[in-house]
Amino acid sequence: MTAPLTENPMVEIAGKIREAIVSCLEERDGRYYATEAGCARLRGVLEMHGIEATVTVGADGRFEVHTPQEPAKHTCHWPGCGRPVPPIMWGCKPHWLALPKALRDRIWATYRPGQEATKTPSEAYLKAARDVQAWIAEHGEKAVMFGVLR
Ligand SMILES: [Zn+2]
Repeated sequence: MTAPLTENPMVEIAGKIREAIVSCLEERDGRYYATEAGCARLRGVLEMHGIEATVTVGADGRFEVHTPQEPAKHTCHWPGCGRPVPPIMWGCKPHWLALPKALRDRIWATYRPGQEATKTPSEAYLKAARDVQAWIAEHGEKAVMFGVLR
């Protein structure tokens, strides 16, 4: 079994854009055209899906849809790990669980949903994240040696 495509948000967005484009083309003499009115409608449909995009009619008579660049892959914050993790997670499971609970609680307490996208984490979060890195620098190797990490 392959994972459903919808697990990749960019694939899901691409699918929605494709559907929206088809629904906003105008038929004339059995052919389909992109029009200014279609652009406005397409913009509306994309907005409804929460997709930020600019829509124009290209020189070739097709819709041109531009979305902001795909956000950079979010990876585990443990130095040298690099495993991709969802933006809401500080790091991969073994590394996260290797941190003392007090530090994990501080990360959660100061985390603001969406901060990875808006790039505006709170001062308290940044302080907690710095303390985590300091802890890893001091104890991280020991945690690895004692087999906490696999
Ligand atoms: Zn990791």
